[in-house]
Amino acid sequence: MAKPSLPKNLSIDNLVFGVSAANNFRDRTGDVLGRLTVLGFKESFEKKSYWYCLCSCGAITVLSTSGLHKTQSCGCLARDVHAERCRTVLAKHHQSNSPAYYSWSSARSRCNNPKDKQYFRYGGRGITFCERWNNFANFLDDMGERPSGKFSLDRIDSNGNYEPNNCRWAVPIQQSSNRRRSVLITFEGKTTPLSVLCRRLGLNYQAMYRRIVKWKWDAHKAFTVPVRKHIEPTGERRGGGAVLRIKL
Ligand SMILES: [Zn+2]
Repeated sequence: MAKPSLPKNLSIDNLVFGVSAANNFRDRTGDVLGRLTVLGFKESFEKKSYWYCLCSCGAITVLSTSGLHKTQSCGCLARDVHAERCRTVLAKHHQSNSPAYYSWSSARSRCNNPKDKQYFRYGGRGITFCERWNNFANFLDDMGERPSGKFSLDRIDSNGNYEPNNCRWAVPIQQSSNRRRSVLITFEGKTTPLSVLCRRLGLNYQAMYRRIVKWKWDAHKAFTVPVRKHIEPTGERRGGGAVLRIKL
């Protein structure tokens, strides 16, 4: 079925409005549907009524009665939505070409995405990514562009959060100097970072760090005395509890 088509260069002045003879006819003139206003009845065609509609963009279009309920504009709405989407995608594309973008997105992921491989060292340790920086543009405003590929996003206090007053662009040397020094444990000639050992043995890193670095316990004692809140720095236990035996 061919839909009645609109003559070219049609203006309201030369529209020919029809009169319907149908019994159940309801005049839609004046109805507003999205950007469209129904100007008047045009004609009946194959048992359907057709209406002239004026779009807010100035175009005149012809729609059937059922079309009135499915349509919001002459087509300009879809074009506008599409154009807006293109602009957004393009803006995102430009952003992701910014050298700071990678640093931003990976830091944000480390803090907010539990599926990130590094999450346990960041979000999992309570390190947060500031709300304002969820918008990349805000981040770029505060931090400026990453000076070069040698620089990375560094937290001045490594236990602090990702936020404007705790972040800077730094080269790795500057970064490692303020990082918690990693504790190496040597057992039977094998040297392993404490963090790795703790993960492997399922031990609480903070507790082991405290025992070995602060309290100067030897590793065997640190690993075998059960972790309890009431343990004194001397290792004396007040309560009972099985001693964890680990074969090292
Ligand atoms: Zn339009």
